[in-house]
Amino acid sequence: MQITAAVAREHGQPLSIETLELDDLRANEVRVRMVSVGVCHTDAIVRDGVYPTPLPAVLGHEGAGVVEEVGSAVRSVAVGDHVVLGAAYCGYCRRCRSGEMAYCENLFAEDFGGRRRDGSTSLSRDGEVVSSHFFGQSAFATYANVVEESVIKVDRDVPLEHLGPLGCGLNTGAGTVLNELRPPAGSSIIVFGTGAVGSAAIMAAGVAGCTTIIAVDIVDSRLELARELGATHTINSRSEDVAEQITAITDGRGVDFAVDTTARSEQLRTAAEALGVRGTLALVGAAKPGTEVSLEIGSSLVKGWTFKTVVQGSSVPQVFIPHLIDLWREGKFPFEKLVGEYDLEHINDGFEDSRNGSVVKPVVVFK
Ligand code: NAD
Ligand code: ZN
Repeated sequence: MQITAAVAREHGQPLSIETLELDDLRANEVRVRMVSVGVCHTDAIVRDGVYPTPLPAVLGHEGAGVVEEVGSAVRSVAVGDHVVLGAAYCGYCRRCRSGEMAYCENLFAEDFGGRRRDGSTSLSRDGEVVSSHFFGQSAFATYANVVEESVIKVDRDVPLEHLGPLGCGLNTGAGTVLNELRPPAGSSIIVFGTGAVGSAAIMAAGVAGCTTIIAVDIVDSRLELARELGATHTINSRSEDVAEQITAITDGRGVDFAVDTTARSEQLRTAAEALGVRGTLALVGAAKPGTEVSLEIGSSLVKGWTFKTVVQGSSVPQVFIPHLIDLWREGKFPFEKLVGEYDLEHINDGFEDSRNGSVVKPVVVFK
């Protein structure tokens, strides 16, 4: 069938809106009519060639829509179901079998390879091959053939226009706190970078009962929003000394937990040094392969601290995303405050508004 999609053709260039051919559904796939899709920083870095998905490609990995058709082997959803789309995973490696699909041993091929497992793509234009199956979905398109692992069934009473961003960024930020760090009530946390991922981490810290929630960014409007979402303190790292502020806020004890979504080496070092005894730093931001950071290991030895990387909030998406929707219903995860809406023709404006800091979470809504 013919679809309309935003195609990444050249590194660093805007996406182009094109008519493509979507092939027939495979046995393990679900045809989804897209209703909304979030734009994530990860789409931007793949468009720019930081990760090696072959171009031309249809990106987009935060889809939400309606099931139009199911392949013969699909069991988890039926025609008419409302679904949110998340990251793909192989389903059979040791990590997947342990419920840790966020750390699937085949993650790169499943999410960034731009091909099905048999090497084919579902998308083409006049015979030209276009990479598909980005995160199992390639959701910057009116329709997609999505692998069953990426599909998360959700209640029909929640408007699909809102649900796009849940699949990656919000899942990642909230899951890092609620699934991975699991801060005890009354503990302290600092979040570096208050974009979509950091904002979700801040809301989740409130859900967990953290009583000191420090947000760090370089954009004042984002810090104001962070306060609305539950941050108890904010620091603009351009105009203020972060280390000094943390010392003042925590009475010199340091924080129990830190989440970095900036992927900047200097911020990561600051985050490590912000930790108190037995503190944990989780790196979530995606840096270019080969990026290094230097960490003080002499006097910090006695802190017994932990540095870890966290992927996709360590969540089982089919379990965790319905939980996030329940939290949203209760007013504890008001992610609609982050959203700016675009139609597909203006998707590049969404990328630009995210880059310049004016919109936290651009969402394309298909009319
Ligand atoms: P974003 O661009 O919306 O947010 C990043 C924020 O960091 C912005 O608010 C920006 O102003 C702030 N920032 C930049 N430099 C800073 C500095 N020096 N000090 C303080 N703040 C600074 O991006 P996002 O969508 O929230 O994604 C955040 C990161 O997480 C990206 O790198 C993205 O690729 C990555 N990501 C990782 C996973 C994962 O599974 N690990 C999943 C989704 C996204
Ligand atoms: Zn796997």
